[in-house]
Amino acid sequence: MTTQTTQTLAEGVECIDTGLYRPQLAASYLIRGGDRLAFVDTGVARALPRLLAAVEQQGLTPEHVEAVIPTHVHLDHAGAAGALMAVCPNARLIVHPKGAQHLIDPSKLTAGATAVYGAAEFERHFGDLTPIPESRVEIAEDEHRIDIGGRVLRFIDTPGHANHHGCLFDERTRGWFTGDTFGIAYPEFCTSAGPWLLAPTTPVAFDPPAWQASLDRLLEAKPLCAYLTHFGRVEDPAALVGQLRGSIDALAEVALREEDQPEAGRLARLKCAVTDTLVAAAQAHGVRMAPDQISEWLVVDRELNAQGLEVWLQRRRKQREAAA
Ligand SMILES: [Zn+2]
Repeated sequence: MTTQTTQTLAEGVECIDTGLYRPQLAASYLIRGGDRLAFVDTGVARALPRLLAAVEQQGLTPEHVEAVIPTHVHLDHAGAAGALMAVCPNARLIVHPKGAQHLIDPSKLTAGATAVYGAAEFERHFGDLTPIPESRVEIAEDEHRIDIGGRVLRFIDTPGHANHHGCLFDERTRGWFTGDTFGIAYPEFCTSAGPWLLAPTTPVAFDPPAWQASLDRLLEAKPLCAYLTHFGRVEDPAALVGQLRGSIDALAEVALREEDQPEAGRLARLKCAVTDTLVAAAQAHGVRMAPDQISEWLVVDRELNAQGLEVWLQRRRKQREAAA
């Protein structure tokens, strides 16, 4: 199969398909200002050749890469950061304060991802993480500004999906690079009603109220578009946000229905309920695939969402016990 790996989405915004699992699942963005480049999200370590090919397509070299900016340190977003830094001598890694340590010493990320995905899957799809020297790491606090050849990216802290998550606003195209904060919109589920958004409630820091507040902040900028890591550009975020807010609420509700139920077997029940909820939402959006097929496209998401909801319930129990 020949698939176009890189697509221009706006002036100086290239969307690179990092090739995780299937086409158009996980993007990396290459942003250009003058003859300077920045990557926002990198895909998994195995994506490195595709990232470098995109640089070459610009008629530039890895020396022109000034910044590597993962929105957060989950591996589909930051897995290639270390490998990329190793071949881009002038780049600095710009990262949320809560994510930095995990890219300097990726051993916990490897262990965490192995726990979530299993060792065989980790090896097969992700590839080894390369540590990044601390001296090359720049911490992005809220409202950090990054200048890429005169093109300004504004970083804001956006907890909710992960507590080490930030989004970047590109003033030039008035678009947000949203990582997972603006949800997931796979092209396969786009209908005449537009893209279908779902909330990834991935372990370990799902936080519904924080997430809703992060969405408020994204909208404050009056964005024209959002560049989603999963996957591509969507228009008019203000018109789409209701879907995502509904998905966050519906998935939280799925978990809360299980809150006082026995923990034995709960994860399996959550998986079923997450699947039913997502399939029903896709159908309500006008997706005409059979339920089994919808569920198959979402095979990784429903697994991660159920695990994340289980972790959230356990955190809520600990908080209640601590308060008692
Ligand atoms: Zn992701």
